[in-house]
Amino acid sequence: MKNTLDKFNRPVRDLRISVTDRCNFRCTYCMPKEVYGESFKFLPRKELLDFNEIERIAQTFAKLGVNKIRITGGEPLVRKIIEELIQKLSNISGIEDIAMTTNGYLLESKLDSLKQSGLNRITVSLDSIDSKTFKKMSGQNFEVEKVLSAIKSANDKGFKNLKINCVVQKNVNEHSILDLLDYFRDSGNIVRFIEYMDVGNLNGWELKDVISIKEILEIIESKYKVKKLNENYQGEVAKRYILEDYSAEFGFISSVSQPFCSTCTRARITMDGKLVTCLFANSGIDLRKPIREGCSSEELDQIIKDVWIKRKDQYSEIRHELTKSNYKKIEMFQIGG
Ligand code: SAM
Ligand code: SF4
Ligand code: SF4
Repeated sequence: MKNTLDKFNRPVRDLRISVTDRCNFRCTYCMPKEVYGESFKFLPRKELLDFNEIERIAQTFAKLGVNKIRITGGEPLVRKIIEELIQKLSNISGIEDIAMTTNGYLLESKLDSLKQSGLNRITVSLDSIDSKTFKKMSGQNFEVEKVLSAIKSANDKGFKNLKINCVVQKNVNEHSILDLLDYFRDSGNIVRFIEYMDVGNLNGWELKDVISIKEILEIIESKYKVKKLNENYQGEVAKRYILEDYSAEFGFISSVSQPFCSTCTRARITMDGKLVTCLFANSGIDLRKPIREGCSSEELDQIIKDVWIKRKDQYSEIRHELTKSNYKKIEMFQIGG
């Protein structure tokens, strides 16, 4: 099983599990309020994978060579007792690293239990430290201080070198680029600037709203001298930089202007058990059905292996052809980024 490769010779190494479609934020670029308002119907509880079902899927992926798991959503911290899932996943042989991507709003009071359950790393999505922009982009009248305080406590409780993900949108939060870098200097946390992507179908994405990493770098270089760093490991998605005085590492994730499909080793599981082999896929393979119909571990292994062997996704490399057509994608909050 371990050396299973897809059609472009890519192994599977990372598994991203979306544990809920619900979220306490309404980020304009992900779940705009106008679409995901009071009357929007999220999935009923029984349609979500339960923790035992998620564990089974993760066990198969571990056999295929996955050693890293990321818990995401929607907002993973709105899923009740998520620590129990993390505990189960951290007991799977071969899983070396469990991370979570969160908007950070509910994080602070959960830090101890998350640590005890075996969570190794945290990424906090934070688009601005300026209260007005934070409220505008998160679509809620929430205080950014609560997220900043959670990050500080996370550092104090031993979660070091958090990744702070900032989606940059033209004419919305360019000022966050230097604000965030200045704020997190000397903290060990790593700000990563993400190009605004055309995930999903409902956020009204247009290329003119994207600020490329080249432009973001120019903004940073207007204030700081920077140096490029080597990849931590082959196929690392973020491009790494450091301020010349070594006070802050930062990075870029550039799916739009510099695609990285050739080294993409990620599989994704939606909250209702679809296996999705590309962030921009328009459908997934239902794993919940065979599991609920009582398939054996060997059968589940075979289903997942067969999907990976046939995988030939490279959306970012061929985006232009696809955006011209009426290509319909899965929404970001369903697969978790
Ligand atoms: N709710 C959690 C959070 O925000 O961290 C986890 C799920 S969220 C879908 C995962 C990541 O996707 C976040 O860092 C978010 O900023 C990013 N994201 C969502 N929509 C995006 C878009 N259109 N372009 C780029 N990144 C996006
Ligand atoms: Fe929620 Fe995360 Fe999407 Fe924002 S990016 S709406 S926090 S799922
Ligand atoms: Fe991987 Fe798809 Fe993103 Fe390419 S577009 S890097 S295949 S998830």
